[in-house]
Amino acid sequence: MSQKGSGPRGLPEELPDRLPVDVVDNHVHLDITREGDEPFAVADAIERAAAVGVSRLVQVGCDLDGIRFTLAAIDEHPELLGGIALHPNEVPRLHAEGRLDEAYAEVERGAAHERVRVIGETGLDYYRTGPEGVAVQQDGFRWHIDLAKRLGKALQIHDRDAHADVLRILDEEGAPERTVLHCFSGDLAMARECVERGYHLSFAGTVTFKNARGLRDALTAVPLHQLLVETDAPYLAPAPYRGATNASYLVPATLRAMAGVLTVDVPTLCRAVSENSERVYGPWGGPRSGQTA
Ligand SMILES: [Zn+2]
Repeated sequence: MSQKGSGPRGLPEELPDRLPVDVVDNHVHLDITREGDEPFAVADAIERAAAVGVSRLVQVGCDLDGIRFTLAAIDEHPELLGGIALHPNEVPRLHAEGRLDEAYAEVERGAAHERVRVIGETGLDYYRTGPEGVAVQQDGFRWHIDLAKRLGKALQIHDRDAHADVLRILDEEGAPERTVLHCFSGDLAMARECVERGYHLSFAGTVTFKNARGLRDALTAVPLHQLLVETDAPYLAPAPYRGATNASYLVPATLRAMAGVLTVDVPTLCRAVSENSERVYGPWGGPRSGQTA
């Protein structure tokens, strides 16, 4: 979850051209229907994505309903792997209701599923959670880091207006071997910090936005083997679909924009993000082999 879109509602009418090499949408919320949109079928979302070369998706559930949805969806659809966690804005809410421990127990049970390959999105969000929630949010982040390490899963991080604390807490805890900054939103300096630590940076539609020059600068600092691409759908549709409902079949627009910034050809970037995804999460077709980045 990042932010609500605004502007035109519903799915875009025109689809991007098919990518030359199949890629992965590293982060999508198929359980979330944007307010005012028609509900959609998961099988349709997968089929449309595959039609433009986005053949594999990481479905992320980050509240209890989303986690239950994710566990059912990954059993039903081989194109999906799962990520589960309590979102940084969800942790203080559950804490206030006295339900956090019980929720952690549910995350931990779900995370044992072989096709849950990601603990996330977890992290820090100082935009939506005020100062009163920071301590409990940071504890929640530490809890999820520990879980990912205990289970040998990748970690996907949500970082909103909290770059310095995200890096500090990862340093203090020791980051999992495979750590992904989802919907990367930092600048060039932050990108360099992450690259140096061996993290993967996953870029979303925001990198195509006209005013996102700093983000494009950041992109140029990331070596191909640490790059990923995602939608964070249904939010943040890339240009030229901005404001419409986002969906995995819009990955090609983001990926082509990234290729332009990086001055690499599209097939090369497709192959890189596809290989990186399988290295970080393991193969979609079978159990994680235990190979590491
Ligand atoms: Zn998200």
